[in-house]
Amino acid sequence: MRVAFPLRSLAPHRIQPPRRGLSAVASAVEAPTTNLSHRPNQPSAFALRDAASAVKPRNDWSKEEVAEIYNTPLMRLTFAAGTLHRRFHNPSSIQMCTLMNIKTGGCSEDCFYCAQSSRYSTGLKATKMVTVDSVLAAARTAKENGSTRFCMGAAWRDMRGRKTNLRNVKEMVNGVRAMGMEVCVTLGMIDREQADELKKAGLTAYNHNVDTSREFYPSVITTRSYDERLETLKHVRDAGLNVCSGGILGLGEKPNDRIGLIHTVSTLPSHPESFPVNTLVPIKGTPLGDNPPVTFDVTLRTIATARLVLPHTIIRLAAGRTTLSEEQQMLCFLAGANAVFTGEKMLTTACNGWEEDGEMFERWGLVPMKSFERAELREMEVGV
Ligand code: SF4
Repeated sequence: MRVAFPLRSLAPHRIQPPRRGLSAVASAVEAPTTNLSHRPNQPSAFALRDAASAVKPRNDWSKEEVAEIYNTPLMRLTFAAGTLHRRFHNPSSIQMCTLMNIKTGGCSEDCFYCAQSSRYSTGLKATKMVTVDSVLAAARTAKENGSTRFCMGAAWRDMRGRKTNLRNVKEMVNGVRAMGMEVCVTLGMIDREQADELKKAGLTAYNHNVDTSREFYPSVITTRSYDERLETLKHVRDAGLNVCSGGILGLGEKPNDRIGLIHTVSTLPSHPESFPVNTLVPIKGTPLGDNPPVTFDVTLRTIATARLVLPHTIIRLAAGRTTLSEEQQMLCFLAGANAVFTGEKMLTTACNGWEEDGEMFERWGLVPMKSFERAELREMEVGV
């Protein structure tokens, strides 16, 4: 069903020049006793205050600093993150994305959480790649319902030897982009040449999650390394594409691994433009099929910490959002999350629908982010 969003969009939200907001944010997290500037790679007793008074993104965070922020009492952390969020983003603007599976199942990788790995008996039927026309029809429906970003996922290890597939994906990208939507794909590992081709076809962003910390990673995936993931992110960045890279909570990781995940992305040469926060949807038949759910405080703490160290990044509430109440989602938005996946399905798992999200947005005074709104706002900022 089509959802009518208020036509009134917010008056173009002008991001405050960073320095004007500094004192307000710093006072939200306790007045400093000395005038400290950040100390790269040094443990700091003032990491939260340094993060909250950021005037631009930093990529020299030490793990100790990220840990200190993560371990801040939750209400204080959430308030600091929300305050910073209002300086770098329009807090009412939430990006609506729709994610379509364009090739389901049969993947040779062994990601312990995934229904699409051919190694596990999950009852999922592997299919061939869908047609270009069906993708364009789905993108049109998504756009009519309010989504401004269309993402496509294929269950592949990598794109080696997939020339025909790549040609079809490029056609899909081109067609969706022609509708005025942002386009993202996730196709496994890609090399620089493939990233260049996708960029030329009109791709906005490439998703490749690092999933968790470097240390915990081998406990959930053994068929490709953490460094291989980072290499794909480098190819994506070098090709001039936006990077979408985040993680999954509930894999059995410890707090230190969530800190490690955030530390990894916050110390990339440039921060990813998008950081998806997934919570595990346990799939029977996978090695993690009986994992207990993460508690909400873990999700909120992860979002708030990510917001503070990745001030420009869009933080995306991804898989597992159906388990959150409306009030929990609002706390996530207050703490800095500003994108959701919405539509009929999210890859192989359930997804909150457009109608439900539209009504929720109305109740809380949120509006869908326009296509390329973040890119435009960044251009307006001073010194970034
Ligand atoms: S690479 Fe992707 S599709 Fe393949 S098993 Fe891992 S998460 Fe699933």
